Amino acid sequence: MTRGGRVKVLYIAGLGRSGSTILSNSLGQIDGFFSTGEMNFVWKHALLENRLCGCGRPLRECPVWRAVFERAFGGMDRVDARAVMASMHAGARTRHVPKMLTERGRRDLRKRVPLFLEHAERLYRAVTEATGERVIVDSSKEPAYGYAVGMIPSVDLYVLHLVRDPRAAAYSWIRQKEQPDSAEREFMHQKSARDSALLWDAWNVSAEALWRGAPQRYLRLRYEDFVSDPRGSFRKVLAFIREPDAGLPLIGRDEVRLGVTHTVSGNPNRFETGSVKLRRDDRWKDGMSRSDRTTVTALAAPLLLRYGYPLGG
Ligand SMILES: [Zn+2]
Repeated sequence: MTRGGRVKVLYIAGLGRSGSTILSNSLGQIDGFFSTGEMNFVWKHALLENRLCGCGRPLRECPVWRAVFERAFGGMDRVDARAVMASMHAGARTRHVPKMLTERGRRDLRKRVPLFLEHAERLYRAVTEATGERVIVDSSKEPAYGYAVGMIPSVDLYVLHLVRDPRAAAYSWIRQKEQPDSAEREFMHQKSARDSALLWDAWNVSAEALWRGAPQRYLRLRYEDFVSDPRGSFRKVLAFIREPDAGLPLIGRDEVRLGVTHTVSGNPNRFETGSVKLRRDDRWKDGMSRSDRTTVTALAAPLLLRYGYPLGG
C-alpha cells in the first residue's frame, strides 16, 4: 500500500498471448509485490467455477484467497458473484471505451457499476492486507477493465501497456492449447488470424486512448524489448511505478526464478516454477501460413509501423 492508504496496482494492459503472464509473474517475485494474475476473472474462476490457483489448489481451498475473501467480505460465500459480474459487464468492457473518454460518459458509467467498484475496492485492498505486500500486479489486460479499476478512489493505478508483434500473438491464438485450469480436459480459447488482429488493433488503440491524458500513469513496453533487455525493462517499470529501490527479479542476464504464485487466471505457464529463461519466441516466422500472416499484417499495418514492427520479412 502507498502513503495515504491507497492501494498501488500495476495493471498490465494489452492483448492476450503477449507474454503478460511471464512478465507479471516475474514482477510478482519482487519483494513487496504480489501477482494476482487476471483479477477480472476472480469472481467467476474462484467463486463460481473453483478453478485452480497458481499454487495448484482449487481457489476455494487456497489459503491466500480464502484469507483475502475473509478479510474483504467475511468469506467466499458472502459474495453474490453473478451480481458483481453483471455490474462489471455493464460498464467495464471494450464497448464502453468511448464513454470512458468523455466526462459525461464517465459519469454515466459510474452510475452503472457501483456494485463492481465497491466490491473491487474491498478485494484489492484485502489482497495487500492479507498478503502484507504493497504492490499488486494485475495482468487482466483488458483496457476497459483496467480503466474501471482506476475509477476506484483508493486505487493508485499504473498502466503497463504490453505490446507484442500481432503475428506472434495470432500464431498463438490460432493453435489449440490445453488449459490445465480445471479437472476436466479443456482447451484455451482460440481465435482466427483475422479476429486476433482486429482485437489487437482495438485493445491497443483503447489502451493508448484511455491513458493519453495521464502520461505519468502509462508506460508502453514491447514484449520483444522486454526479453532482449530484461534488466533495463524491469528498471524502467520500477522507476515508472516509483519503486526505484526494489530489487530486480533476475538471476544473471535473462533468467528469473519463479516461486509458487497465487494467480487466479492466466496462461498455463502461470503454474511454472523454478528457473525460467526469458527468450524471444519466433516460432510464428516458420510456422504461420502465408495467408494468416498477410491477413494480420494488413489489418494491423498502421499500428505495426507505430510500434516499430516491420511489415514484411
Ligand atoms: Zn493459491
